[in-house]
Order: sequence, then C-alpha cells, then structure tokens
Amino acid sequence: MFHAQVLTLFPEFFSSPLACSIPSRAIAAGQARVDCIQIRDFATDKHRSVDDAPYGGGPGMLMKPEPVVAAIREARRRIPSTHVVMLTPSGRPFTQEVALEYAALDSITLLCGRYEGFDERICADVDAQLSLGDYVLSGGEPAALSVLDAVIRLLPGVLGSSESAVLDSFTEDGILDWPHYTRPEIFEGRSVPKVLLSGNHQAIEAWRKSESQARSKARLRAVLSHS
Ligand code: SAM
Repeated sequence: MFHAQVLTLFPEFFSSPLACSIPSRAIAAGQARVDCIQIRDFATDKHRSVDDAPYGGGPGMLMKPEPVVAAIREARRRIPSTHVVMLTPSGRPFTQEVALEYAALDSITLLCGRYEGFDERICADVDAQLSLGDYVLSGGEPAALSVLDAVIRLLPGVLGSSESAVLDSFTEDGILDWPHYTRPEIFEGRSVPKVLLSGNHQAIEAWRKSESQARSKARLRAVLSHS
C-alpha cells in the first residue's frame, strides 16, 4: 500500500477532499493511506510557536527549524524509507512524470510551509523540493493535495479500466488528450464531429491522434510565445 504523510499546520484542510471520489475510494480499498502530522505538536516553547521573524529584517515570519525538523524526523521514524518532499515555489516543477515517479515509491512525506516559507536550514533534512507552478500559494496544503490526488489515481488498481490513466494527457511523450464529446449530438448549434458517429474505428483513432497532436503543438506554441 502507498503510504503518504503530510506535515502541516492545517490537517483539517485535507479531510473533505480526501473523502471524495477517487482518493476516498483508494483509501477505503486499502490501496493508499494518508496520515497528517501536526507540525505544532513538535514546538517546544510554552506558546507552541512554529514561526519567528527573519534575521536581517523584512516582512512576514518564517517556519522555525526546530519544530519542522523534529516533525520530519518523526515522519522518518514512522516510515524510514519515506521520500520527504518540501513544497516550495523554488522547487522542481511538478509534472505527470514526477507523479509517476512518486506513484512507484512506497511512501512520500509532503512538507507544507506557511508564512513567508521555511528557514533555509530545513532544506538539509528533505530529499527533494517541489513546486506546483510559477505562482505563490498561501500555504503548501493546496500543493500537497494536488500531488496526492495526481499520485493516488496512478496507483495500480485505483482507476478502473473505463477511467484508465494510460490515455491521460502527458502520459505518452507529453502529448495532450484529444477532445471528447457525449450526448446530445447537437448542443446549442454545435455538432459532435461526424467521424465520431461513423462507427469507423480506424478513422476515429486517426482523428483522435491528429487532434491530440494539433492541441499539443498549439499549446507548445502558446508556451513559447509567452517565454
Ligand atoms: N516567500 C515564499 C516565496 O516567495 O517563494 C512564498 C511563501 S508561501 C506564501 C508559503 C508556503 O506556501 C511555502 O512555504 C510553500 O510551502 C507553499 N507554496 C506557495 N506557493 C507554492 C508553489 N507554487 N508550489 C509549492 N508550494 C508552494
């Protein structure tokens, strides 16, 4: 079973999303397990503080090293083989390739920051740094949740054959999914492409492939024109 741990100041953030749809099914079936560890439980002063002001001045507060590192060590004590990942905008970009890598592991531990982020010395205690994208979230929790969702759906047996991940975007050579249509045949004057109604499976497959390629090229062009 894939065992994830989340180091967070807000364990309640995860309850509702993990109780829905595919993650909840995987957890109920014993294919995945997610445990939250409250970082504040590792604070040592009487105020249970987890943040402090930055040396050198500047706005905001930082996650203090002592409680965060103690929480990471507790996560490693519970699962010695776990891969500890710090969520930070400075990290490796999260992609489907990373999701596949994580789905092949026995355990990951996701470290969620708050405030202005982490004291830099905490980095020495993690195995990887991961970014959800080039924007700034208020905390690591939405990033951790996205990672959990993307990884859990890739675990063996989690998706039924009707929802297989093999055809998902980015799975084959980074190519995007093709456009999909369901009933009705005409919606607000827009028709389903005729080829999909033809019953000609070879033609349908060729159309899907060419649509996927066209979409992937269009997106690449859009990315390059903004870089
Ligand atoms: N001062 C930091 C910076 O500019 O890089 C941002 C800190 S952010 C307000 C607080 C926390 O949210 C971070 O420590 C990190 O855990 C999480 N976070 C924010 N944006 C993220 C992103 N794009 N990917 C992963 N985690 C993110």
